[in-house]
Amino acid sequence: MILYNSATRKKEEFVPREEGKVKMYTCGPTVYHFAHIGNLRSYIMEDVLEKYLRYIGYDVNRVMNITDVGHLTSDADEGEDKMLKGAKREHKSVMEIAKYYTDAFFADAEALNIKKPDTVVPATSCIDEFIRVISSLMEKGYAYEAGGNIYFDTSKLKKYYIFNDFDEEDLAVGVREGVGADENKKNKADFVLWFTKSKFDSQELKWDSPWGLGYPGWHIECSCISMKNLGEYLDIHCGGIDNAFPHHTNEIAQSEAYLGHEWCKTWFHVHHLNTATGKMSKSKGEFLTVSLLKEKGYDPLVYRLFCLQSHYRKNLMFSWENLDNAASAYDKLVSRTAALSADGEIDKAVFDECRAEFCAALDNDLNTSLALTALSGVFKKKTNGATKLALINDFDRVLGLSLADRAAKVGGEKKGAEDGAGNGTGDDAEILAAIAERAAAKSAKDYATADRIRNELLEKGITLIDTPEGTKYTKG
Ligand SMILES: [Zn+2]
Repeated sequence: MILYNSATRKKEEFVPREEGKVKMYTCGPTVYHFAHIGNLRSYIMEDVLEKYLRYIGYDVNRVMNITDVGHLTSDADEGEDKMLKGAKREHKSVMEIAKYYTDAFFADAEALNIKKPDTVVPATSCIDEFIRVISSLMEKGYAYEAGGNIYFDTSKLKKYYIFNDFDEEDLAVGVREGVGADENKKNKADFVLWFTKSKFDSQELKWDSPWGLGYPGWHIECSCISMKNLGEYLDIHCGGIDNAFPHHTNEIAQSEAYLGHEWCKTWFHVHHLNTATGKMSKSKGEFLTVSLLKEKGYDPLVYRLFCLQSHYRKNLMFSWENLDNAASAYDKLVSRTAALSADGEIDKAVFDECRAEFCAALDNDLNTSLALTALSGVFKKKTNGATKLALINDFDRVLGLSLADRAAKVGGEKKGAEDGAGNGTGDDAEILAAIAERAAAKSAKDYATADRIRNELLEKGITLIDTPEGTKYTKG
C-alpha cells in the first residue's frame, strides 16, 4: 500500500517493521465536550485506514489515549486547561466530565461505524509511567526545572521542527488563543512535561512527583501510552492535522530523546473540515455534533459517506447542501442493495476484477472516493445478484456503510426502481424488508436464516419467486 507520510512529505510504500503486523497509534479525544464532526472526520478516515490494513491481511494493533487531564486550550502549552474549563462550565468534577464525554465520544463513534481501538488508555491511568519517562529525560539532560515546572529543552535536539511548515492557519493556533509567553522557558519552543507551579490553582487532579505535587503536560501522554503499549517502534501514528504541530512534533522530540532512536516511521494526518466561515472548531463556540445530525433527521452514516467522498488530505467543505447530496447518494446505494437478489453462484472472475479495482483505489494513498466509484461500478456489472451482494458486503468491511443492514431495515421500497424490475403484486414494506434480509443472509452464505425467512413468509401465504431481476412475491 502506498501512503503519504507527513514526516517525509512523500508518498511511500507502507512497510511495517514486523512483517504482517502493524502497530498503530491514534491521538484520542480530550473529553471535555462533545466531539464535533470535524474531529470525527479524522476518526472516520483513520478507521478506514485501520480496516483496510486488516482487509489486506495485516494484524493491526491500535492504541488510543483519552485526554482526561492537562490539555490546554491553546493546543500548545499555554491557555486554559480544557478539562477544568468543562468542569466549571457544567458544575461537575473533572472526573465526572471525563466519564460523561468519554461515553459520548464512543457512542458517536459507534453511530459512525468507527471501530473502537484495541486498547484505549485514559491519561490519568498512566501517571507513574509519565513520571518515569520525565525522570529519564531529566537524567539524560533533555529536560530542566524552572519556576517549579519541568520543561523539555528543544535546543538539545539536532532537529526539533518537524511538521511546522503546514499552512499558516495551523501554526497560528497557539498564537491566536495563547496568553503571554512563559518566562520560565529557555527556548521559545520548549514545552511543559510536568506542571507544579501552574496558573491553575484550582486544578482538581494532582499527583505526587519528584518535583512536587502536580500534573502532566499534554504531549507526554501520547509518547508514554504509545511506548508502553506498542513498544519502542511504532509503524503509523494518526491524528488530525491540527495536532501535527506542535503536539506531534513534541511527541517525536520526547520519544526519540528518551529512546535514542527513531520512533515512528509513518505519520498519517487528516485535514480539516471547513464551513463557509472557516475551520470547524470548538473554541469558536458553535459546532456540529452527531446528535445534531440525528435531530435533523440524518443517518450518521450519511456523514461517514460524505467524508469518504473526498480525499483525507484535502480540506473538506461542509454545508447542509453537500450533506443532502451525500444523503441522496446513500439512499441510492441502500435501495440498489435492497433490490438485489442473492441468487446464483458467485462469479469469481467478476468478483476478483471488482475487488482489484477497489484495492487499487485504496492502495493509492487511501483514495476513498475512487473506492466508492468501484462500489458503484458493482451495481452496473453484468453479473448476478449473488456476486454483487458478495462484493458489496466485502467492500463494506472497509467502507463501514452498513449497506446490507440498512437495505434489510428499510426494505426494498425502491426495489426494482433502478433497473425497472417489478415490485411483485404489492408494496408491503414488511415483505420487502424480509426479502432484503433473506438476500443479505444468502450472500453471507447463511442459508439456514434465508430458508427460515422464506418459510415464515410461506406460512403467511406469501410465496417468493427468485428471478434474474430479483426476488418477487405473490400473495394468497
Ligand atoms: Zn497525541
